[in-house]
Amino acid sequence: MIATAAVTDVAATLLPEQATDSVWNTIVVGGGPAGAAVAIRLARGGRRVLLVDRQSMPRPKVCGCCLSSTAMAELRELGCDSDALGRLLGTVPLERVRLVAATRGVTLPMPPGRTLSRESLDSQLVQMAGDAGAAWLPQVDVTGVAENPGPEPMVTVTCRPQTGRHAGGVFLLRAESAVIATGLADHVRVPGDDSRSIEPGSRIGVGTTLAPGMIDLPAGELLMAVGRSGYCGIVTLEDARIDVAAAIDRQRIAAAGSIGRAVAEIVQEAAGPAAWVAHACDALASAAYQATPPLTRSAATVAGITGRILRVGDAAGYVEPFTGEGMGWALAGGRLAADALLGSPAPAAAYSRSFAAFARRHHRRCRRIAAVLRHPWLVGAAIRVAAAAPWMAEPLLPLLVGSRRGQGACFG
Ligand SMILES: Cc1cc2nc3c(=O)[nH]c(=O)nc-3n(C[C@H](O)[C@H](O)[C@H](O)COP(=O)(O)OP(=O)(O)OC[C@H]3O[C@@H](n4cnc5c(N)ncnc54)[C@H](O)[C@@H]3O)c2cc1C
Repeated sequence: MIATAAVTDVAATLLPEQATDSVWNTIVVGGGPAGAAVAIRLARGGRRVLLVDRQSMPRPKVCGCCLSSTAMAELRELGCDSDALGRLLGTVPLERVRLVAATRGVTLPMPPGRTLSRESLDSQLVQMAGDAGAAWLPQVDVTGVAENPGPEPMVTVTCRPQTGRHAGGVFLLRAESAVIATGLADHVRVPGDDSRSIEPGSRIGVGTTLAPGMIDLPAGELLMAVGRSGYCGIVTLEDARIDVAAAIDRQRIAAAGSIGRAVAEIVQEAAGPAAWVAHACDALASAAYQATPPLTRSAATVAGITGRILRVGDAAGYVEPFTGEGMGWALAGGRLAADALLGSPAPAAAYSRSFAAFARRHHRRCRRIAAVLRHPWLVGAAIRVAAAAPWMAEPLLPLLVGSRRGQGACFG
C-alpha cells in the first residue's frame, strides 16, 4: 500500500455543465506545477481562466519531491517568500546527499534544498490559482483540443467527466486559447499535430511512498543509489513518510518480475552489504508502485497552426530526472507561457523563443548526466575520489544539480 498524506481536498469551484456556459480566455489542461503556474499568473492578470484536471487534488505523483533552486525561485516569484516556503508550503530543508554506486558511498553537503510531497505542493498551487480567481474543475479528462478554422478565433476542448451524473459523457468547452500541461502522460489529441516523440531506450519513472520509519534515513538527507539499469532517490517528507522515486530500464523490471524487486535490486547492487540495506530492500520490494510512461521525450511547445494552443511542463518535453529539476522547469515554463499570453501580440512565437532559450542549456546538461549514469562503475570511481577528497567534489555538486553556488538545489 502507498502511504498517503493528510492534505485537505481542493473543492471544485463549478460543475462541468456550468463551465460550458462561458467562453474562457484560457483553458489550462492539467493542474500540476506547470498548469497551476499558468493559471495563477493569468488569473492575477485579470483573465478568465479555467483549470481542468482528470484527477482531484491532492493526488500522488511519481517524483523525487526535491525542490531545486529554480523551483524555489519560481515559487518565490509566485508569492511564496523564503519564510512562506517553509511556513506556508511546509517544506523540509535538505542538507546532505548520500551517493552510493558500485558498493561505494559518500555523503556530501548539498547546496541548501527542500523537499515537499506532491500531494501538498500541487494542492497548494491549485488552491493559489483558485484564490487568484481561476475556476477549478477536477475529475474531468480532456481528450482533445482543436482550433476552429472560422473567423471566430476559438479553441474547442473536448472533455469527459470522470464522476457525477455526466460521467462517461462528452462535453465541449470554448476558449480563446488553451494550454496543455498534462505531464508525461499527455494523450490530448490536437488535429494535425504529430510533434510528440519518445527517445528510444528511454527509462520509465516509478515511485512509492512508505510509512514513516520503513527506511532508516535521517531527515534532511537524500539517498541516491545508482545501479546498472537505473537509479533511485529516497528522502523523508514533511510528514515523515519516505518518498521513493526511480528511473529504470523496462527490461530490468521485466527480468526482476516486479517494480518493487527491480528497485530493491538496484539499491542492493549500489549499496552493497551495509546493515541498513537488507531492511530497506525488504520494504522497497514489497511496496506498491506507480509508474510513468517513458521519460525522455520531446514535443512542440506550440501545437496546431493558429498559435492558440501552447504546451508547458513535461508535456513540452522532458529528460531523465536524476538532477531533480522537472518541477522548476515546469514552473518556469508556466511563467513564460503566461507572460507571452498576457503581454505579447504573438504569444506562440514569444513563448517558443523564450522556452527554447531556457530549456536548451538545462536539457543538454541533463542528457550528459543521464549518459554518465548508465555507467555505475564511473559513478563508483567518482565516489572513491569524492570520499578521499570531498573538497574536490563539493564545488561540482551545484553544477550537477543545475544551481549556482549558494542558491540551493537537489537531486531527485
Ligand atoms: C522518477 C522521477 C523523479 C523526479 N524527481 C523530481 C525531483 O526530485 N524534483 C523535481 O523538480 N522534479 C522531479 N521529477 C520531475 C517532476 O515530477 C515533473 O517534471 C513535474 O511534475 C512536471 O510538472 P507538470 O505540471 O508538467 O506535470 P504533472 O506534474 O505530471 O501534472 C500533470 C497534470 O495533468 C493532469 N492530466 C494529465 N492528462 C490529463 C488529461 N487528459 N485531462 C486532464 N488532466 C490531465 C494530471 O492528472 C496531472 O495532475 C521527477 C520525475 C520522475 C519521473
